[in-house]
Amino acid sequence: FTTDQYPRYKRNPNFKELSTDDIDFFKSILSPSGILVDNGKNFDDLLPYNLDWMRKYRGKSRLVAKPKSTEEVAAILKYCNENRLAIVPQGGNTGLVGGGVPVFDEIILSTNNLNKIRSFDPLSGVLICDAGCILEVLDNYLAERGYMMPLDLGAKGSCHIGGNVATNAGGLRLLRYGSLHGSVLGLEVVLPDGTILHNLSSLRKDNTGYDLKQLFIGSEGTLGIITGAVNVAVFGLNSFQKVQDTFIKSKEYLTEILSAFEFWDSGALKLLKLHPRGRKFPIEGDHQFYVLVETHGSNKEHDDKKLEKFLEDMLGTQVIEDGVLAQDTTQIKDLWSFREGIPEACSKAGAVYKYDISIPVPVLYQMVQDVKSRLMEANVFGENKLVTNVIGYGHIGDGNLHLNITANSYDPKVTELIEPFVYEWTEKHKGSISAANHLGYSKSPQMINLMKTFKQSLDPLGIMNPYKFLPQ
Ligand code: FAD
Repeated sequence: FTTDQYPRYKRNPNFKELSTDDIDFFKSILSPSGILVDNGKNFDDLLPYNLDWMRKYRGKSRLVAKPKSTEEVAAILKYCNENRLAIVPQGGNTGLVGGGVPVFDEIILSTNNLNKIRSFDPLSGVLICDAGCILEVLDNYLAERGYMMPLDLGAKGSCHIGGNVATNAGGLRLLRYGSLHGSVLGLEVVLPDGTILHNLSSLRKDNTGYDLKQLFIGSEGTLGIITGAVNVAVFGLNSFQKVQDTFIKSKEYLTEILSAFEFWDSGALKLLKLHPRGRKFPIEGDHQFYVLVETHGSNKEHDDKKLEKFLEDMLGTQVIEDGVLAQDTTQIKDLWSFREGIPEACSKAGAVYKYDISIPVPVLYQMVQDVKSRLMEANVFGENKLVTNVIGYGHIGDGNLHLNITANSYDPKVTELIEPFVYEWTEKHKGSISAANHLGYSKSPQMINLMKTFKQSLDPLGIMNPYKFLPQ
């Protein structure tokens, strides 16, 4: 059988179909709460695992395994490898490109029960934890000890640290703390044949041999970082050029304390107002763009002064039209909640086509405008049309754009207008795009071949998350 999202794909006949013997094996190694089987009666129990949160990608797995330990993971993988059963690893299932959802009937290996914090060392700031720990749980755990995770995303209440590492999630604090390539010090990885690779180094500097963990981004993570005082401001601006000017100035004025620089457009604000999560948006009037600036230093008085001076000068030179500064931690959370609420507001608007794209900042917003024009020309975007919104938001710091197109329902006509247009546009502007099956637009054939060589040597039978990422 084929699925709607991957119409060109056929189930790989080399993969075995799940049998009663296989189910009995999994039952023998997992606890009763560690296994969900579709025996025709409890299909609904499997649906949350077979379907992604946007309800865009849907697989037909008949078995979810929820191991409690690394050894159980190893036993599952060893058995699957020996019996050619395909597997899809799944964390919090918050991914945007269907990577954690089966394409056909792959077994789902969920990290839900791998949720122990193994250790935290306040001296080095190193945290060691299981792959299934929820990002927000880790952040709260560290906050109680005066530390924080170097990673923050809108999905933090559900996503797992293993999923974050697997997707090399950038998130809202990337500008200040860099990517997970720097903050993940070690990983424990189970290879497809069941071998456990212990690489849980807690050294910040380790020059010995190949840095294998970078290849394995996609397993259990060890993270941690020291923190201090935080402040946040939100501005209204009238052009994308002014968003860029503000970014340049923010680096000049706030230098070492600048920790996040986010933007969203007026379309995103319109959606936020339509689906409010609480407090009223603090900036009156209409602006084309909004920017959120966060500082993170160690001396609150000094940081506040710097941010106030920045706001004053930006207003004085009319780079920004309006702005508010958080007065306390509640207001800091409130201001962040607007930025973090955008994905949820989009999902309430019906079907949502989401693209997570890295593009050079000067042309970043051009993408949104070009997609808008294309959909308008095709007469599918506007009042009472199929497509209801085309919005852009993201992290200016790392040239990251979230392009979201909301529609009344998923429609092949809309999909054909957007894809491969978005992928080709990204390629043309030397960007890269997260997509489960469009790597060819971001990486050269030589790089893809090298990736295939690595994949082949670690997973010769190709059982791990088949059909995705590497072109077939
Ligand atoms: P899943 O969705 O379950 O899986 C994602 C991928 O990782 C799949 O391919 C899966 O097979 C694999 N995987 C999961 N766990 C493991 C494991 N233990 N071992 C091997 N492979 C594994 N991304 C950003 O980069 N920046 C953002 O700012 C950002 N904001 C977001 C905001 C919202 C509201 C949402 C819903 C998503 C956002 N994302 C963002 C996407 C982000 O990458 C994912 O939400 C998150 O990192 C995935 O974690 P997860 O546990 O939900 O993984």
